[in-house]
Amino acid sequence: MTAQPYATLNNGSNMPLLGLGVYDMYGKEAETAITDALEMGYRLIDTAAAYDNEKEVGNAIRSSAVPRHEIFVTTKVANAQQGYDSTLKAFDESLHRLDIDYVDLYLVHWPIKGKRKQTWQALEKLYSDKQVRAIGVSNYLLPFLQELEDYASITPAVNQLELSPFLFLKDEYQYCQKRQIQLQSYSPLARGKKFHNPTLLAIANKYGKSPAQIMIRWSLEHRISTIPKSASRKRLQENFDVFDFTIDESDMATLDSLHEDFRVVENPMQML
Ligand code: NDP
Repeated sequence: MTAQPYATLNNGSNMPLLGLGVYDMYGKEAETAITDALEMGYRLIDTAAAYDNEKEVGNAIRSSAVPRHEIFVTTKVANAQQGYDSTLKAFDESLHRLDIDYVDLYLVHWPIKGKRKQTWQALEKLYSDKQVRAIGVSNYLLPFLQELEDYASITPAVNQLELSPFLFLKDEYQYCQKRQIQLQSYSPLARGKKFHNPTLLAIANKYGKSPAQIMIRWSLEHRISTIPKSASRKRLQENFDVFDFTIDESDMATLDSLHEDFRVVENPMQML
């Protein structure tokens, strides 16, 4: 296995390209999965206030043998807490629940109507006060990114979007590349709903890998960070076993062509 790849963010911090998403895991199950993941070599954990497991994320990190500085922790401000003062308060509450010294990346979870500017300004304040190492957005499709240019003094370090071969958002991909905003794909496995796609299966067979591994590798080949979720030890291992192969250009083009606007989470455009 070769070393896992990292991205250098636009503020100079380093972030692993592959991480663990912890949506929909709770209590002991979440703590065990995160502990296992850290043992296996995962170094990025993606949580959110809305996932109701920041406490478990913190517990697993504090009890792990992996030094804190080697772990990259992302959390996000919940929709109901957006706004300037309420975001500052939400951040304090997240930090308290996590009970770790600092957060590596704080994201605006969704582009909420009427709240976007104030929420972003609160994130800029947290960043300027050195309370967080990097700030970014999530679910910011092109119109939200363009709007953000009007009020942002700091360019987001990361934009976390739903992305997979079945939802390849080329406009956002190009925009983020040009502005040095690191893209990160959520629901990168499309929650398993496309594992039976014949083209995906044929490529998986060709490389001797699973459909999940091909979907993860597709993100990495595009230098898109990715955060597949699993609460199973076996699948955590499988999803991390993606550093010993590459997908060639023609198979990447085939995977890119699977795009069909397929979403498992709601379309952020409804927030406009
Ligand atoms: P994923 O596409 O990561 O799919 C997760 C599902 O696939 C789970 O049911 C998991 O089950 C299953 N699975 C995982 N690995 C495998 C495998 N190798 N083979 C077969 N099945 C597998 O979906 P998510 O929506 O969870 O997205 C990942 C992360 O992205 C979230 O956990 C969260 O951190 C983030 N996210 C962010 C959003 C945002 O608005 N910013 C929105 C949605 C997600 P099992 O656990 O049993 O393995």
